[in-house]
Amino acid sequence: MHIAIIGAGISGLMTALELIEQGCSVTIFDQQQVGKAASWAGGGILSPMYPWRYDPAVNALAKYAKPLYQTWNEKLAPQTGIDFQIHETGMLIFDEDDFDIGLNYAKQHHEPLQHAEYIQREQLEQINPFIHKKYTHALYFPHLANARNPRVLQSIQRYLKQQPQVKILEHCPIEKLNIQKQKLISVTDLSGQTHHADAFVIAAGAWSKHWEKQLNIHIPVEPIQGQMLLFKTPENWLPTMCMNKVMYLIPRMDGHIVCGSSMRQVGFNLSLDENIKNNILDACFDMVPELAHFPIVQQWAGLRPSSPNGVPFIGQAPFIENLWFNFGHFRNGLCMGAASAKLLRQLMLNQTPLENPDAYSPLRLMS
Ligand SMILES: Cc1cc2nc3c(=O)[nH]c(=O)nc-3n(C[C@H](O)[C@H](O)[C@H](O)COP(=O)(O)OP(=O)(O)OC[C@H]3O[C@@H](n4cnc5c(N)ncnc54)[C@H](O)[C@@H]3O)c2cc1C
Repeated sequence: MHIAIIGAGISGLMTALELIEQGCSVTIFDQQQVGKAASWAGGGILSPMYPWRYDPAVNALAKYAKPLYQTWNEKLAPQTGIDFQIHETGMLIFDEDDFDIGLNYAKQHHEPLQHAEYIQREQLEQINPFIHKKYTHALYFPHLANARNPRVLQSIQRYLKQQPQVKILEHCPIEKLNIQKQKLISVTDLSGQTHHADAFVIAAGAWSKHWEKQLNIHIPVEPIQGQMLLFKTPENWLPTMCMNKVMYLIPRMDGHIVCGSSMRQVGFNLSLDENIKNNILDACFDMVPELAHFPIVQQWAGLRPSSPNGVPFIGQAPFIENLWFNFGHFRNGLCMGAASAKLLRQLMLNQTPLENPDAYSPLRLMS
């Protein structure tokens, strides 16, 4: 079976990976460079932040993130030479209102990744000596990890390019779906060229709404801008991820620290805002004052594909038998990405799904 995938972020690339492992061939289209949109811009935390604030359907997929990315990394790294750098730093949360809720969530769910401990200052200092003195206690998630998302994307892309059954077309925006009798026959790109396949996947992230007119359905996906800052500290300087009031610090193995983030609905606008930068800085220095001694080496913004309750659309499109969706992952597309793609592959190939797919069904778009 030959499958055309529109969008080469984590959703499209992981879907391609899953499908070729099952013997399919794929063509992947991206309107820009592969893996340079939201999936590049994100922080790579392999869990929803404050999972108890999310719909259970989000956590149901996110729980697979760490083991699935570890498995893929073991398979891909020897062939691509790129390590995902899955960094098991754990995370400290300082929002006091979440302490009891977080501990109860951990008790109820028994998921190893969401194991949580309430810790006092003495233990806090042992775990992370750089936390501001005013924080006398915290909630500690020792098993949470982050992956270096740009490397994940690079590695998958390199691996896919090595496979003869994969074709990647960059700077190739798909404009039109050519539908006949409830079947998608082909897609047409901006230059007017037509591309045929047996089945098609839309994994277009924040741009997914583009298809609502042609499909005659309402697609409630909007771009929500998030701004980030990158610091460079010595290697392994900050031992844990830190979070307070939805602002976070994510240490990479080589000493880079990703700090973010904001939420703004400003269309497809990637411009940086000085006030937001200052808010991020204030929040990060409030947690880790010594960070102020290190340089900011990069700043950027990305566009999250929002969706109602943050639950992505994964499954068969309404009315079209060979069109499939994998979009709308909002704030958790990296942590849900590996399991979303696996679930979609299982649905497309009529295999037993890893989770009940109903919560993600695109048929929601018709209600
Ligand atoms: C600042 C920020 C921080 C984040 N932090 C985290 C985090 O720590 N953990 C986490 O799990 N998630 C995080 N996220 C969310 C996560 O990044 C997204 O949910 C995820 O990347 C969405 O992946 P995607 O592949 O669906 O979309 P994208 O990565 O945006 O990819 C979609 C691709 O489709 C292409 N495309 C669109 N339309 C067309 C077309 N017509 N033709 C051809 N190509 C097309 C686009 O060019 C793009 O490359 C963060 C996001 C941001 C912005």
